[in-house]
Amino acid sequence: MLLSEDELRAGVARMADEITAHYRDRSLTIVGVLTGSIVLLADLIRRLDMPLRLALVQARSYRGRATTPSNLSLNADMLLDVRDRDVLVVDDIFDTGRTLFELVARLDELQVASLRSAVLLRKQGRQQVARGPDFVGFDIPDEFVVGYGLDYDDMYRNLPYLAVLEAADIEQAGPA
Ligand code: 5GP
Ligand code: MG
Repeated sequence: MLLSEDELRAGVARMADEITAHYRDRSLTIVGVLTGSIVLLADLIRRLDMPLRLALVQARSYRGRATTPSNLSLNADMLLDVRDRDVLVVDDIFDTGRTLFELVARLDELQVASLRSAVLLRKQGRQQVARGPDFVGFDIPDEFVVGYGLDYDDMYRNLPYLAVLEAADIEQAGPA
């Protein structure tokens, strides 16, 4: 276990306070990134009491062997109209940052009024892009983590705490 339920709750509350201090009573459009952010979204939005809309996008990055900047495949069917809106992108984890960087670039093309980003976790020493997230719950070491929405092979999202995946867990992840 890396972060307990209590620690996660405190971190989300801290992040909600920072977001509230920044936006005050302005209305906010949150763009949650599926699927990893769903648990964070559920906890975070209940701690925000400005007028708020929740939109969703699904992002998948295919990195393969190419060293080209990530090819982000984006499903925006559940995105709302964001023109002239204050937009806050919410994702589970900032690793290299390529996913968030590219998503922010695409949203920026939609004439938003302002655009910021929040992540629950930021991995130390991994950032490959110029701009980091504006709101961060926790800085964590460079380990592969699961739980609280984050998966390994689509499993473990329902763990209420955050855990480091170990080699023994990887062997058990497939169908019995
Ligand atoms: P980035 O584009 O910042 O390198 O990667 C962000 C995405 O990679 C996250 O949204 C998440 O889907 C995945 N990812 C990166 N690190 C981890 C990790 O430690 N655990 C899990 N479960 N996913 C991760
Ligand atoms: Mg993700």
